[in-house]
Amino acid sequence: MKTIIIGAGFAGLSASLNLKKDFIVLEKDKRPGGFCKTEIINGFTFDYTGHLLHLKNQDTETFIRENIKTKLFKIQRKSYIYSYNVYTGYPYQMNNYGLPGKVIEENLIGYIRRAKNKKVKNFKDWILCEFGSGIAKNFMFPYNEKLWKFPLEKLTLKWMGRFIPSTTLDNILQGLKEKKVSDVGYNAYFYYPEKGGIESLIKDFFKKVKSKVILNAKVKKVDIKKKIVYYNNKQEKYDNLIVTMSLKEFLKIINDKIGIYYNRLKATSVYALNIGFKQREKIDKNWVYIPEKKYIFYRIGFPHTFSSFNAPRGYNSIYAEVSFNKKIPDKINDKIINDLIKMGILLNKKDIIVLYPMVLKDAYVIYDKEREKILPEIINELENNNIYLAGRWGKWEYSSMEDAIKEGIEIAKLINKKG
Ligand SMILES: Cc1cc2nc3c(=O)[nH]c(=O)nc-3n(C[C@H](O)[C@H](O)[C@H](O)COP(=O)(O)OP(=O)(O)OC[C@H]3O[C@@H](n4cnc5c(N)ncnc54)[C@H](O)[C@@H]3O)c2cc1C
Repeated sequence: MKTIIIGAGFAGLSASLNLKKDFIVLEKDKRPGGFCKTEIINGFTFDYTGHLLHLKNQDTETFIRENIKTKLFKIQRKSYIYSYNVYTGYPYQMNNYGLPGKVIEENLIGYIRRAKNKKVKNFKDWILCEFGSGIAKNFMFPYNEKLWKFPLEKLTLKWMGRFIPSTTLDNILQGLKEKKVSDVGYNAYFYYPEKGGIESLIKDFFKKVKSKVILNAKVKKVDIKKKIVYYNNKQEKYDNLIVTMSLKEFLKIINDKIGIYYNRLKATSVYALNIGFKQREKIDKNWVYIPEKKYIFYRIGFPHTFSSFNAPRGYNSIYAEVSFNKKIPDKINDKIINDLIKMGILLNKKDIIVLYPMVLKDAYVIYDKEREKILPEIINELENNNIYLAGRWGKWEYSSMEDAIKEGIEIAKLINKKG
């Protein structure tokens, strides 16, 4: 009984650490880790934007701790929203202290008058019913439009789960009295490696299964009838296949009727500019959401606050994230730098000593009606052919590293049981 795993990110490595029978992992890149790799440039540690570990499942946490040597810091989140030249605590719907009076009035009245009982059909409706017109106008609409680059009325509700905390009138009123960074939401605390960025965890996992992983092995074709995987100039037969590469890409390389669905799965990509710069003032914010359209990025974060080893002494570091559909906006680096200067985060271009861009293709999967319609059919057809999906892009979902690890473990257990 042979299993082939496509992809050596967290999902693929976790599956491989749990498989009891014969298997190999095929990874197209020269290093394992997917978007959980880390680049160390002139003493600055840059992940593929903030990759912070949120642990909520005890079994997954135990598995991670059993398989790593890396020391993890536990950090209380310091995250903010920046609008009207004011930093308010995250989440916005509970922290309006310091905003202009007109904005507070819109948010409060909008919440009180919101149409609670309306039948919610899409994400836009949901925002209005859950938070009201003020919070929608001043944060939820502009932020989500900037992030998704997709009409909010065409997004379904399936992705939100833990990602958007709800609020109450008491929460809103409390958040007007004091400047407080709330500890609600799925990411109130996070873990982060002391040294080497998030890839240090990947390295720990990889060490244990190294002999089974073939790097530089791009899977180009899968014959799902004959159960053969083609990579480089080789071919390999399997009994079970675990797919953690992008489902969209996978649909392109298989000989099955569901292949036609590949162009109906949609996603938004992210351009991230990493910057190392001279410290002029202490920055202790972990990350900041930026809803206003006048700034090009939807979020910025500060890796030097995750671990002091992430930047040389006397320097700070930033990642700025801009989402895009097909084409990266022109002169994007200049726009990012100018906007950081406008915000007062960078004081002078001359302070910059490292610029390191990254492109994250298909970073955020779009949850629209088409996805909900075709995904069950795709999964059903693949499982009938002993093909199992795991991870954020394998399952074509909005999920975390912890989810990828959990899904990898679960698929391995399922295959072990098949005997
Ligand atoms: C902008 C952004 C920020 C994020 N922040 C966080 C965060 O703070 N916390 C968190 O928990 N999660 C975060 N995530 C999610 C996290 O990146 C994913 O959950 C995780 O990377 C999923 O791992 P995976 O193994 O499923 O996929 P991947 O890591 O993508 O693994 C798939 C592997 O398949 C390989 N592959 C692809 N095609 C082929 C092929 N044809 N042949 C062979 N190999 C192939 C790839 O090279 C890759 O190594 C973030 C994601 C993004 C995009």
